[in-house]
Amino acid sequence: MSLAVQIRQHGGPEELQLVNVQVGEPGPGEIRIRHKAIGLNFIDVYHRTGLYPLKMPAGIGMEASGVIEAVGEGVAHLKVGDRAAYAGQPPGSYCEVRVMPAMNVCRLPDAISFETGAAMMLKGLTAQYLLKKARPVEGLDKGDFVLFHAAAGGVGLIACQWAKALGLQLIGTAGSDAKCQLALANGAAHAINYNTEDFAARVKEITGGKGVKVVYDSVGKDTWDKSLECLRPFGLMASFGNASGPVAPFAPAMLGKYGSIYVTRQTLFTHISSREATQAMADDLFAVVASGEVKIHIEQRYPLKDVQQAHRDLEARKTTGSTILTLD
Ligand code: NDP
Repeated sequence: MSLAVQIRQHGGPEELQLVNVQVGEPGPGEIRIRHKAIGLNFIDVYHRTGLYPLKMPAGIGMEASGVIEAVGEGVAHLKVGDRAAYAGQPPGSYCEVRVMPAMNVCRLPDAISFETGAAMMLKGLTAQYLLKKARPVEGLDKGDFVLFHAAAGGVGLIACQWAKALGLQLIGTAGSDAKCQLALANGAAHAINYNTEDFAARVKEITGGKGVKVVYDSVGKDTWDKSLECLRPFGLMASFGNASGPVAPFAPAMLGKYGSIYVTRQTLFTHISSREATQAMADDLFAVVASGEVKIHIEQRYPLKDVQQAHRDLEARKTTGSTILTLD
């Protein structure tokens, strides 16, 4: 048996209920993992509310670390007793023990703690592909300006540090002056409080009127229009989330006024759709964390039983950096 968080219908944090579930043996291509820590992510909110619909009853959560307890047929990269961590499907990481596909589960290097592993896989792999793969056609060179919204959040704080390590000038936005300071302390070259300042005007000022090569936008509805104004010609609008709500439909023709820009909507799970790709990206993440160039900031910890409060705080923009759910 395992304690697990389930929802029976989409809705508010009160839908997150602790239940006891039976956990079986892994089938072909699967593993059973006993969790040590669980990562909280904004996608868990989309799953809970139904913005990204789930079949009911549903587990929630896509990130965790733990110890491999059993290995199904055909799984060659993991063995019983291995320390492991993952960003993986299907949702259901808010639990003590689970059976899941092995494809996205990676061995965790000894130097990385279980808590750090749970706090960094989904967010770190996202920062990895955004900065290294979702690139503009012209490429990104050292010194280039990029704009990263919600820079003091989970993905954001990792992106600030990694962008600096890559020699990029990351302009971060955040919802308070304290969050802006946090982004600056973690490698952002500039920070803008988008609740009090016109971020498009400030970006133009910072870049000498030229604009940025890429906007990384996970805020969505509230930032979309002004984000387009921040791009230089041939720039890339990389949309990857909707924390403020989904972006309204738009006519492709209107993009022309911003100068032949490109628009993409990126999802982590297309980047980690094979074992090889998952491992290559994870190795890159493990290396940058081991080098100390990227530090994983766990700013909030909640016992699993307080998961409702964790969701309330995440949605109320009270969190910074990474958040984990702890198990006794
Ligand atoms: P964060 O820790 O970044 O939390 C979300 C942040 O968004 C808030 O702290 C807040 O920061 C900002 N925000 C702006 N407007 C709102 C609003 N109306 N309500 C709530 N928050 C708002 O979360 P994560 O690090 O887990 O994820 C960051 C984003 O990246 C999310 O949108 C997530 O869905 C997306 N994502 C996408 C992936 C993909 O592959 N497509 C993978 C991983 C994450 P502030 O107060 O500074 O504005």
